[in-house]
Amino acid sequence: MYSDFAARLASSIWPDFGETPGRSTETPEVTGLSTVVVDGNFPWTIVRLETDAGVTGIGEAYPSPGVHEVITDYFESVLVGENPLDVERLYNLMRESLSGRGSQQGIGTIAISGVEIALWDAAGKILEQPVYQLLGGKTREEIRMYADCHAGDGMVEAALDGQPEETYEAEAYARAARSAVDDGYEIIKFDLDVPSGREIDTLSRHFDRPEIEHKRGLVEAVTEAVGDEAEVAVDLHWNFSVEATEKLCASLEPYDLAWIEDPLPPENADALATLNRSVEQPLLTGENRYGRHGFRDLVEKEAVAFVAPDVPKTGGIAETKKIAELADTYYLTMSPHNIGSPVATMAGVHVGATVPNFLALEFHARDVPWWDDLVDAGEPLIQNGRIEVPDEPGLGIELDWDVVEEHRKE
Ligand code: MG
Repeated sequence: MYSDFAARLASSIWPDFGETPGRSTETPEVTGLSTVVVDGNFPWTIVRLETDAGVTGIGEAYPSPGVHEVITDYFESVLVGENPLDVERLYNLMRESLSGRGSQQGIGTIAISGVEIALWDAAGKILEQPVYQLLGGKTREEIRMYADCHAGDGMVEAALDGQPEETYEAEAYARAARSAVDDGYEIIKFDLDVPSGREIDTLSRHFDRPEIEHKRGLVEAVTEAVGDEAEVAVDLHWNFSVEATEKLCASLEPYDLAWIEDPLPPENADALATLNRSVEQPLLTGENRYGRHGFRDLVEKEAVAFVAPDVPKTGGIAETKKIAELADTYYLTMSPHNIGSPVATMAGVHVGATVPNFLALEFHARDVPWWDDLVDAGEPLIQNGRIEVPDEPGLGIELDWDVVEEHRKE
């Protein structure tokens, strides 16, 4: 009875390797690595990992100068002949091979991240399992996305209305907010480190009362436009001092923001922890940090409420899961940064599906009308502000290579 059940369970999770067409009982091997850069609202660097098992793994590395060369000119020779199912061993092999030359952070780690995602996709396809299953199984059926309604929308709307492009008007922000909420997003984010039209010295990181009032006006317009239908977050892009953020946060208290993102320059977790204890709003940071070691001080000092690793930058899928687990030891929540194509986005979806302490994944390409066309699928990936966690093998999407070619950047 038990063995019968065990056999059925085993066959449902690990189908018989020998009987599936296209599979081989031989140990699979990596046969090649290449990249294609897609000219999106950022240069999305797609990684292709070829194997001799009849599958190609797809990954994405964070847009960075030089990352293509590191992947194709260097990591291909490190990985060819290796078993793509050994994802974590190969992650460590890549780190060791770049030891002292960018294995801890920067483009070395970004290149590793892109290849790591492609390895998970290949491993999932070879084993005929979705990536979340290989990571330990899913904790949720769909992933909540949050919409970055970045200042570009405000600029465009302002320009259309005949206003000077460099001012950011409250009505334009409110319209952009309403549009995102009407599309089903329950969390929306705006840039708040934007010009008010006054000449000021931003290098001092000090913002005087009229500047604070301009930002308060933008937040008031957005929160009035969306009411209780969505939470509103704001991004300060490392441009404020502790005292300026404290003043800004005091003026924003009535609006119950979801989070304040990157108020201070990114290096000093002590300063952020000081700020975190002195303001009412939850803080979020992390897109400039690499791996568990890059998040350790933030977490141990309880410097933020939300950690925001970027999967194709911080080390890839497994490293992001480990960052979430580190954060969970202090009951902090992860809300990953994401400015990528559908490939980077699906990497975030599989991490978010796996870890309990996940809030929402960023979507930064609402103004790229062909974002969904990159995926060979009948319907949009994001529906009503959510992505259903796919059960297809690997990342669960296939790219439409004709559309990739159409938008290819040389
Ligand atoms: Mg940001």
